[in-house]
Amino acid sequence: MHRYDAVLFDVDDTLLDFDASEEVACRHVFDDRTDSPAFPFALFAAAFRSVHNATWGLYMAGTVGRADVFRVTFEQLAAMGYLDGMDPAVAALTCQDWFVLHSVPEPEALRVLALLHARCRTGVVSNYELADIQRKRLAASGLAELLDVMVISGDSGIEKPDPAIFDEALHHLGLRPSQCLFVGDSLASDAAGARNAGMDFCWYRRHHTAPFAPTTAMNVIESLAELSTLVDAPDVPDVPDW
Ligand SMILES: [Mg+2]
Repeated sequence: MHRYDAVLFDVDDTLLDFDASEEVACRHVFDDRTDSPAFPFALFAAAFRSVHNATWGLYMAGTVGRADVFRVTFEQLAAMGYLDGMDPAVAALTCQDWFVLHSVPEPEALRVLALLHARCRTGVVSNYELADIQRKRLAASGLAELLDVMVISGDSGIEKPDPAIFDEALHHLGLRPSQCLFVGDSLASDAAGARNAGMDFCWYRRHHTAPFAPTTAMNVIESLAELSTLVDAPDVPDVPDW
């Protein structure tokens, strides 16, 4: 008897490495430029990261739409002389396509998800505006076929930590919150969302380097491989009311 009937995951920086996926796509654009490079990839990558972070800031401020993030970044890189004459619109599309089709799984993600999928139900609850793109990333990376349910905020407009997005996954699975473990990297959307939905939470903190003081009862893992033990741990017996 497993402790949970389902393990549900956040996607970015939990099952897929977001920054690594963008960097792989950036490398592809660098290799795809028409002229021979006048500078090394490390310089291009550093410029991309700096400009792209600024573009993400504009997106967060609401001044750049989600679908325009790559375009705005590459227009800026072109203006700074990094594209060697390559059309920034072409560079943005090239980057976007590569990002969608070659997203990088977190270490152990495919192996652990396959293991869990054989033992219990699995799914994702993801905050991602462009739902079709997120589904394609999950399919292309090989994760989708190991998932029983994929709930993506872009379809409904409801985002974590709203418990309604977790309820949608529970409805698909026919399960109660107490039967599920939610795994994610964000305390603001994943931990708070799981708590709002009544699910146990496991914090995957590979991308968080700050020291962590375990002041709460949540599970904390550094590697997805640790999930196997957690899911198979014996159920905690109910404490009787006195
Ligand atoms: Mg995340």
